[in-house]
Amino acid sequence: MGEYKGVMTFAEQEDGKIHPVSYELLGKGRDIADKLGVKLSCVLLGFQMKNEVNELIYHGADKIFFYDHPSLKEFDTIRYKQNIVNLVKEEKPEIFLLGATHLGRSLGPRIAVAVKTGLTADCIDLKVDEEGNLIQIRPAFSGNILAHIKTKTRPQMSTVRYKVMEKRERDPTRKGEIIMKDAEVVENSGTNILKKEKAGEVNITEADIIVSGGRGLKKPDDFKILHELADLLGGVVGSSRPLVDEGWIGREHQVGFSGNTVKPKLYFACGISGSSQHLAGMRDSDIIVAINTDPSAPIFKVADYGIVGDLYEVVPKLVDVIGKNKNKVLS
Ligand SMILES: Cc1cc2nc3c(=O)[nH]c(=O)nc-3n(C[C@H](O)[C@H](O)[C@H](O)COP(=O)(O)OP(=O)(O)OC[C@H]3O[C@@H](n4cnc5c(N)ncnc54)[C@H](O)[C@@H]3O)c2cc1C
Repeated sequence: MGEYKGVMTFAEQEDGKIHPVSYELLGKGRDIADKLGVKLSCVLLGFQMKNEVNELIYHGADKIFFYDHPSLKEFDTIRYKQNIVNLVKEEKPEIFLLGATHLGRSLGPRIAVAVKTGLTADCIDLKVDEEGNLIQIRPAFSGNILAHIKTKTRPQMSTVRYKVMEKRERDPTRKGEIIMKDAEVVENSGTNILKKEKAGEVNITEADIIVSGGRGLKKPDDFKILHELADLLGGVVGSSRPLVDEGWIGREHQVGFSGNTVKPKLYFACGISGSSQHLAGMRDSDIIVAINTDPSAPIFKVADYGIVGDLYEVVPKLVDVIGKNKNKVLS
């Protein structure tokens, strides 16, 4: 185990743009590396992304391993896995972190199997114990408990949820080392990209304001009331899971343990009870406003502002008042 040293993160990119989770990983990775007194490195695979490499240094990396090759322009699990496995075997980091995004979730387990180590998926926090082991914290049993997991093998690998870690302030004066790596070209990975579908028009994870509805809504059409408030504030509509399961709204709107983790500046929970699974996806929002007819609903325990009332009365009133005072409210 002693031959493994340093923290390494995977920098995810799409269309040449670094995914923000990569900066969050560097933020957490930096804290851990400083605590352990080791270097923080980062691996980036892509094509013609020279400017982005520097961004990774500005956000905390000491060293970048950059695979710059046309075969790596688009994400391909097998091609990416093969090159990262080579690097992990060469560099032997003691900790390797990826985002728990679709891409990270497909890549992480394949790398872990190839280097014969364990992987803790979907972590919401990471710590280091007195012996320098990584404590990987993730919800278990439908989010009712937080499991603290240690890995006996090396590297200790985790995927980390997007929007739960803090990225560091960008520091363009930071210096780091860029190591250009020769890519192993996997001719036939078994995947051919025929066409890229556009993701759903709503990217709830990036929204600053979310107006979410739950089973307090009586029928699918009533989401219109929430849309009015969201549109007025320049936000988007979210949902608890039961309404998504009923097909009232698309899965991309779901907030919670089995949906999206969100961290907006303002989160409205309208007719949502506040189950542990829902809270797992939104409790880190800056300001939470709960509207619920039941004063004992658990959502009020996490809410900054609670309104005990019928959403069918309260939300239109908010729309009315905010509409009349929009400039004042949004300034
Ligand atoms: C493995 C697993 C994963 C899960 N993942 C998720 C997840 O990702 N996201 C998620 O949300 N859930 C998830 N769930 C489901 C979760 O357990 C709850 O069932 C769900 O969150 C409840 O949704 P709700 O709050 O909309 O409904 P309810 O719990 O039924 O609450 C409805 C609330 O509306 C209030 N209400 C009723 N009428 C009005 C009105 N007119 N005005 C104002 N308030 C009103 C009621 O007082 C009540 O508090 C998961 C469950 C499991 C087992």
